[in-house]
Amino acid sequence: MVRTRFAPSPTGYLHIGGVRTALFCWLFVRKHGGKFILRIDDTDQERNVDEALAPILRGLKWLGLDWDEGPEVGGPCAPYYQSQRLPRYQQAVRELLARGLAYRDYARPAEIQAEREAAERAKQTFVYSRQFAAHTADDEARLEAEGRTAVVRLRMPRQGTLVLEDLIRGRVEFDWAREQDHVIQRADGSCLYHLASVVDDHDFGITHVIRAEEHLSNTPRQVFIAQGLGYPLPHYAHLPFVAEPGSRTKLSKRKLDKYLKNRDFAQLVEHGRRIAEAMGLDVRPETFNPVITDFYEQVGYLPEAIVNYLALLGWSLDDKTEHFTVEELIEHFSLERVNKAPASFDPRKLQAFQEWHMQRVPLERKVGLVVPFLERAGLVPSPMPEALRPRVGHVVEAAGDRIKTAGDILNFAEFFVADDDLAYDDKAFDKQLRKPGTAARLGKYRARLAAAASFDAASLERLTHEFVASEEIKLGDIIHAIRVAVTGKSIGLGLFDALAILGKPSALARIDRALEKV
Ligand code: GLU
Repeated sequence: MVRTRFAPSPTGYLHIGGVRTALFCWLFVRKHGGKFILRIDDTDQERNVDEALAPILRGLKWLGLDWDEGPEVGGPCAPYYQSQRLPRYQQAVRELLARGLAYRDYARPAEIQAEREAAERAKQTFVYSRQFAAHTADDEARLEAEGRTAVVRLRMPRQGTLVLEDLIRGRVEFDWAREQDHVIQRADGSCLYHLASVVDDHDFGITHVIRAEEHLSNTPRQVFIAQGLGYPLPHYAHLPFVAEPGSRTKLSKRKLDKYLKNRDFAQLVEHGRRIAEAMGLDVRPETFNPVITDFYEQVGYLPEAIVNYLALLGWSLDDKTEHFTVEELIEHFSLERVNKAPASFDPRKLQAFQEWHMQRVPLERKVGLVVPFLERAGLVPSPMPEALRPRVGHVVEAAGDRIKTAGDILNFAEFFVADDDLAYDDKAFDKQLRKPGTAARLGKYRARLAAAASFDAASLERLTHEFVASEEIKLGDIIHAIRVAVTGKSIGLGLFDALAILGKPSALARIDRALEKV
């Protein structure tokens, strides 16, 4: 039975690179019918864990990456929070001490630093002398009498090589001499992450440790601990990191300014910002940032589009297949086809995936997706009355591919505001409605509309063509004016769709208001 885990630290956000790791763990488990465990690495947590964990859990849920054991769902190995497992870690430390694989070290930080500097001056690799290691109870008493306290360090091998088969990187060799005597327990009795991680992986029965490449260098000390405690080793798979757009440097949430110089990235942010601002969201880069998963949820991306895109950040089925449903990903995913090289985040490609998936969403679901955006922007009451649903459906249908993310519905606010609240684009208004003769023509057109027996798009189109013919004008001489009068702006849905959606009373009221303003 395959068991793998995603082990986030509660940082308050879900990084795109982190969620890609979670996705690969999840796909692997779901493919093999195993269990996906969510473990919380909060050994160093100072902040409120629940608060810092919430966005991570929310992001995973939004993307459909459900976990079989962990926070909220519990499980046979609970607790799944490292902060609640300290006694178990301390027991492991005692075992390592008893086996001579770790020692109590009473050195003061300054003493170790002095050794390090001496090695540097002599241009030698630093190898700790272990001169303050306590071997007996007498040693401990003597060193403690000097006012010293002890940390516990691993007694790492100083020669030889460790050879590991990584499921992605293949054979990897580590030189033991390059390892330090890593600390596993602090003087206050708290334990460090590497020890905790190994103990948990063992206690949770983890068969596959699938994690980010940056942990590869931690693997030797973890293998040392696992072997020291007599645990069988899990399989390791170190995923390449997600790199910046057009580079091989790791994607960082703190480098937004740099990424904004990339046009596609800037466009992605700009599009999102318009939507977020329309809903009054906080758009500071700490929270509103495409390197953080929340961004996509806030802007109304489809979870399946993000999952599809992330799956291809480092994995491929072949050279050509790009679009996958989640089920297809589960069916085809394999660690063998994960790349060793970093995959760079490509905002344009992500948007293309979003558009592809959005085009396949049935109308009814699309309506369900956009309604919360209308509610949050205050364009409809919250919860939205059912009576408004047909109008939303009508706008969504007429907008078609112009709704690329659910939040794009907010570009069509003119169909939801009260007639008296319609805002005009002043430039468009002046250009289209203040032209000599336009108001008179629009007045006549209004009369035709008022008399119209049917108000669907096709009838309105016919009516307008007849009007143009009888007035001996060109279509272009009137439609722009009508559009600005009823929608406030010069771009948007097809004019006849727009009029039909508004309905006769609203269309007339808006024309009257525009004429009054002229
Ligand atoms: N808490 C670690 C991280 O967030 C997980 C390390 C691991 O997967 O072993 O990177």
